[in-house]
This record gives sequence, C-alpha cells and structure tokens, in this order.
Amino acid sequence: MTPTRDTPALLGGRPVFPRVLPITKPTLPPLASYTRGLAPLWESGLITNSTLVKKFEEESRAYLGANHAVALASCTSGLILSLKRLGLRGDVVVPSFTFSATAHALAWNGLRPVFADCDPHTWVLDAQHAREAITRDTTAILGVHTFGNPCDVLGLEALARERNLKVVYDSAHGMGARVGKRRIGTFGDAEVFSFSPTKLLVAAEGGIVATPHESLAKDLRKGRNYGDPGTYDCEWAGLNARMSELHALLALQSLKMLEKNVERRNRLAALYRKELGKLPGLTFQKILLGNRSTCKDFSVVIDPQKFGLTRDQVAKALDAEHIMTRKYFFPPLHRMTAYRHHAPPEGSLPETDHLSRNILSLPLYSHMTEAQARGVAAGLRKLHHHAPQVAAKLQ
Ligand SMILES: *Cc1c(COP(=O)(O)O)cnc(C)c1O
Repeated sequence: MTPTRDTPALLGGRPVFPRVLPITKPTLPPLASYTRGLAPLWESGLITNSTLVKKFEEESRAYLGANHAVALASCTSGLILSLKRLGLRGDVVVPSFTFSATAHALAWNGLRPVFADCDPHTWVLDAQHAREAITRDTTAILGVHTFGNPCDVLGLEALARERNLKVVYDSAHGMGARVGKRRIGTFGDAEVFSFSPTKLLVAAEGGIVATPHESLAKDLRKGRNYGDPGTYDCEWAGLNARMSELHALLALQSLKMLEKNVERRNRLAALYRKELGKLPGLTFQKILLGNRSTCKDFSVVIDPQKFGLTRDQVAKALDAEHIMTRKYFFPPLHRMTAYRHHAPPEGSLPETDHLSRNILSLPLYSHMTEAQARGVAAGLRKLHHHAPQVAAKLQ
C-alpha cells in the first residue's frame, strides 16, 4: 500500500507533526519584562513573602471577588493547611476522578477519603453522588472543578447546609471559571488554586486560598510560615509554604494574561468539539449552560466499539503522529496504590471507572494555534478511517 496523506504514521504514513506537539506548555510573559521586574528585588534583598506576594494576593482577591486570598507555595500546601485549620475530623467526601494531590491533602491531615462517583456528563462531583457517599463520620465535602469545569457548587452547598458539613474546593484548574456571573473562588469555606506550569495561571510553583473567613486567612498566613505569628512563639505546627517574590512576579504577569488565555482555550476547545464531533464514538465534557470552564484540559471519552480503537490504542497511534496525550485521570484515586485500602466495594463507582478507562486528554495550551488543533483532529480522523489496520498493527 502506498502511503497517502490519510495513512496513519503507525502504518507507514507521515506523522501529522514533524516534531512532537506537547500536551501542554506554560504561556509565559516576555523574558525581558520578567527580568526587568527582578531588579527591585535585587536592590531590596526581599526575595520571599514580601510586597509582590501581597500585591498578587490583592489582585487575585479582586479578580475573584473573594473576601480573602492567601498565597502559598503550592495548591497542595494550601489544601493541607486549609483542611487542618478548618478543624475537620473523620471522613471527607471526595471524587475519585481527580489528581492525586486532592486526596494527599486529606491523608496528611489523617482524614479518611470517602470516594464518590461523578456525573457521567460533566465529570465532576454533584450533590447526588456526594449525598450517597456521606457517612456518620463525614465532616466535609472536598469538590474538584475538574479540567476547569465548575462542579455542582450550589447543590453541594445546599447539601452541606442540610448536613452541617464544611465545603472545600480543590480549584487547581479553576482560576477563571464561573458559575453564572459568580467566579469560582467565591464558594465554600475555602477554594484552593494551583499555579504550577500545567495550569492557566503560572507562577512556576504556587497556589492561593480564597476564603470568606477572616480567621482562616489569618491562620493560613501563620501556617505558611511555620505557624509563627511573627513572634517566634509558634502557635501550632505549620509548614514552610511561603510564596517567593520571584514566583509572585511571574504570577502577577500571568494574571494579566489570564482572561485572554481562558478565552483562547475556550475557542480552541470549541474548535476541537466541532472537528471531532464529526467522528463517531467520541464524547466531550458537558459544560452546563451559563457556566464557564477554564478548559484547563481538553479530554475525550472514546467508545471503542464506535470509534474502532480503544483509548490505549489511540494514545499509542497518536504518539506515532507526534501528538502527545495523557490519561487524566488514570488510575482513579480508589485504584491507586496509595488509596486502594479506602476503595468502596467493587462496582460502586461505575462512572469514574468508565471515564478513567476511556478518557484521553489531547494537547491544549493557551498559545496553541488553531492549525495545531486541526492537526490533532486530522490525526484522530486518520486513525478512525484505518481503525482495523491500526488495531491489527498494535496487536
Ligand atoms: C495540579 C493539581 C494539584 C496540585 O497543585 P500543586 O500546585 O502542584 O500543589 C491539585 N489538584 C489538582 C486537581 C491538580 O490538577
């Protein structure tokens, strides 16, 4: 068979991209503007937890419309400290379909994760699945805005009021998301964002906690600094979870680009949906009407019968096209070595298991071009057209 433009690379065709298209890439400010911003730090010698961190906290607080915002070294440390200072005990309801750090923050506080299933369309925790997971010892719900899609914040908060539970959100993907006019960052007892390089707002490493509670904000300021109120007479065992000024400088410049980047990603995601919607067996995350996702990731659920190939086969064949993919989130938390012992009875999380087995995240980043998104779609089209041959080749 002579290869044509439509021949998959795995079968001897030319890869869609000459060099690997990464799954994600941080959108950074121009280097010169970053280095210019460093000069005052060198002069003052104040290189951690100082004026730029305060400025970043204030600008983030204003952007989110939150009462308080406390910057930290990471989302994980923000979650650990928030859960600790909210004084939680016993069980916490958490989706299994999320990143490991969500549950790690519980484990570091001696809290037991009770894994809940997620909605099959929005892929996030909703009130119904959270309700099913509540035990006698449940003291909180930890929701996640997976891939930037707001979880059922209103439903979860009504449930929390009814059952007297605290609500914390792992909002690592959520900076820039909205429920109606209200931004993610204004819900629950605390929302914790991440600014690591795979997220939309990038500080290299960093996080912020948005909270309506002044007392929690005060505690977090001590907690990120060993529990020291400023007198060296530590009130409790804190962490070193400060944000440095170098990170705050990058975060401030990144925050300026955030709205534009959320819009760009939403446009790229819409293009993906349009292009890939023509192929059978691919479904996308449902964003409820009136909500705005950040499109932190663009993931597809692959029906092997209809598409002709399994998720793992598609991942391998796209690799040959020089298209990088990731299996977010596989394995789900309840099947991870670290959390298997907390797994509910087999078959209790059918939606999570289904998603996790069939989902594949495709390249998406804020400065990715429309041509690149079209290229990815073309790659998937090739695979579908030659599904039986590709499957045979991968045997
Ligand atoms: C990235 C991520 C985290 C961890 O954030 P860090 O800032 O790296 O600590 C937590 N939860 C989710 C869902 C994430 O994607």
